[in-house]
Amino acid sequence: MLISLIVPCYNEEAALPHLYKAICEVRDGYKDTDKKFEFIFVNDGSRDKTADVIRELASSDEDVRYVFFSRNFGKEAAMYAGMEAAKGDYIAIMDADMQDPPSLIPDMIKPLDSDECDIVAARRVTRKGEPKIRSFFARMFYKLINKMCDVEIADGARDFRLMRRPVVDAILSMGERQRFSKGIFAWVGFRTKWVEHENVERVAGETKWSFWKLLKYAVDGIVAFTIAPLRVATYTGMALALGAFGYMLYYFIRAIIGKIWSTNAGYPSLLCFILFIGGLVLMALGLIGEYIGRIYVETKARPIYIKSEDNLKQDT
Ligand code: UDP
Ligand code: MG
Repeated sequence: MLISLIVPCYNEEAALPHLYKAICEVRDGYKDTDKKFEFIFVNDGSRDKTADVIRELASSDEDVRYVFFSRNFGKEAAMYAGMEAAKGDYIAIMDADMQDPPSLIPDMIKPLDSDECDIVAARRVTRKGEPKIRSFFARMFYKLINKMCDVEIADGARDFRLMRRPVVDAILSMGERQRFSKGIFAWVGFRTKWVEHENVERVAGETKWSFWKLLKYAVDGIVAFTIAPLRVATYTGMALALGAFGYMLYYFIRAIIGKIWSTNAGYPSLLCFILFIGGLVLMALGLIGEYIGRIYVETKARPIYIKSEDNLKQDT
């Protein structure tokens, strides 16, 4: 039985040696069993010496596979490439920075062995060490997306998970270009077991997420998994039209019974209404634009990533 560990790496030269040591310890724990490991490092266009570090690991360890991208395509693309390359019966995805503790892997293998579930996913129960404001917005995001989407996306769920082959095949069959893995993982279903752990701070290097990147990620996630915002625009439009109709009726009746009065004090309120409705219309247009933009990108059907180098075995 083969177990594939996929590690997306972007500028992780400092963290990789730590991670490699830790996953080797995991592998050593299974030395006398039928479990073999392969480590798949996906270098997502790093600008530091990550490529050299990976090549060196591969030259001394034949379980190390790698795929290099021609530029930075993002973690989603890196995970996809890793899953495509993985040959294992069990497949795990983990960060390079040790925020996904490799020591959890044996605990994740057990439930799969005993056929308790098909996916074991890690979830952090605390957000210790993270900026307060970031945790706050993260919580809001999960509340919002779960209200709007049919699939349940767990708060604190990481991309760290161990999956059976059929799960990975299902994920790979979803060929969308704008990938939102947290949603995709939830969407494919299967029996999932959660293991919980404390938040761990990265061992070396820096996080690649800025506030704006996270905001964009949040919008991408919502737009990718629900069309509820479009419906909100429809309903708001309906409510406004209904209100306007009622207003019109009211004045019509007043005019008929001769109770209408002439005034020119309506200017500020008119301006407010026009601006308000103009704003709503623009917002709805922008919203529609978000979806059309995504249709545009998907119809171009560009590959999810471009490979510049690998050492994958072609035989199997
Ligand atoms: N990563 C990647 N491509 C990117 C950004 C990140 O492959 O464009 C990898 C990164 O090397 C790490 C993982 O994704 O292994 C998570 O990144 P990071 O630690 O920066 O995110 P955080 O843990 O802060 O959410
Ligand atoms: Mg990290």
